[in-house]
Amino acid sequence: MIRIRGNALPSGEVVDLCADGDRWTTDPAPGAELIEGWLLPGLVDAHTHPGAEKPGDPLDEDLLREDLHRHVDAGVTVIRAPGIAGEPPAWFGRDPDVPRAWHAGPWLAQHGQFFDGWGRRVEHSELPGVAAAQAARTGWAKIIADWGPDDEPVPLTVLRAVVDAVHAVGGRVAAHSQQAAGGLAAVAAGVDSIEHGMCLDPSALATMAARGSVLTPTLSVIESGLSKARSAPPGPRRDWYLNGAEAHGRLAATAVEAGVTVLAGTDSRPTGRITDEILALVNAGLRPHDALAAASWSARTYLGLGGLTPGSPADAVVYPADPRTDLSLLANPTAVILRGRRVR
Ligand SMILES: [Zn+2]
Repeated sequence: MIRIRGNALPSGEVVDLCADGDRWTTDPAPGAELIEGWLLPGLVDAHTHPGAEKPGDPLDEDLLREDLHRHVDAGVTVIRAPGIAGEPPAWFGRDPDVPRAWHAGPWLAQHGQFFDGWGRRVEHSELPGVAAAQAARTGWAKIIADWGPDDEPVPLTVLRAVVDAVHAVGGRVAAHSQQAAGGLAAVAAGVDSIEHGMCLDPSALATMAARGSVLTPTLSVIESGLSKARSAPPGPRRDWYLNGAEAHGRLAATAVEAGVTVLAGTDSRPTGRITDEILALVNAGLRPHDALAAASWSARTYLGLGGLTPGSPADAVVYPADPRTDLSLLANPTAVILRGRRVR
């Protein structure tokens, strides 16, 4: 049995909880292993594609487990895979050593767009039905709303039909967007989450806040592409990336100020780098408290999971001191508890 005691974020109030299976409880548990420190209700990587080495590769089950172990070691107890390289095995999201997981099945893209070998290409007329069938199965559908700077985004009318169809089955739509026009269409259509959101017009943030649409900026991976873009040959593609990526940190900070829920997502390999995304968000101007919210309690709430309260799923990450005042602590948690068991 596990018992945790210490200051719990976000409030910082002291809690003393025991894991009864996969539930936190205030019932005493004699003989439980006591772990003390500053407590977070588990980290969340809301945008990761575990199980494939590079875009286009099929899902590899051994690699999938390895990738998920890296997440857990970093304190991640929940992931969302908005697009995955194949049908995940039954143990995905369930085995004791891997995070809880949501996934959106294959990326749904227009013909001639997205990575060869990954996802499904779907006619506009069939997109709402295909997306709704996926969301009925796993709760999410992922739409590639736009792709390169010269590609046509999915039309607003089609996106609206997708959102209606997915919501009708109780699911949510995640939309990939890295182009201004596609981003505005996705927001206007009322998608539930904008993934990346590079080049999004900040004027769309008020609409997102009002609708409860979330932004997963995947800031660290987008900024990591800047040096390559700077050395690329001049042209519209280079201009697009540089302008979008250089403004992206500001967009993430403005989103928080506008009241948009921001989720932390790492997107690229290797997995287990949630701390990089938290640090990128802080560098962009988010308060450490808000960057941690994006990687923990806000994301858990968005996905329907509770925090460090009796009755909530028994996840926690423990640090020796307040990670908001010393972000370097994030790299070395004292303990990671997943489903009531110590996994680090
Ligand atoms: Zn992605």
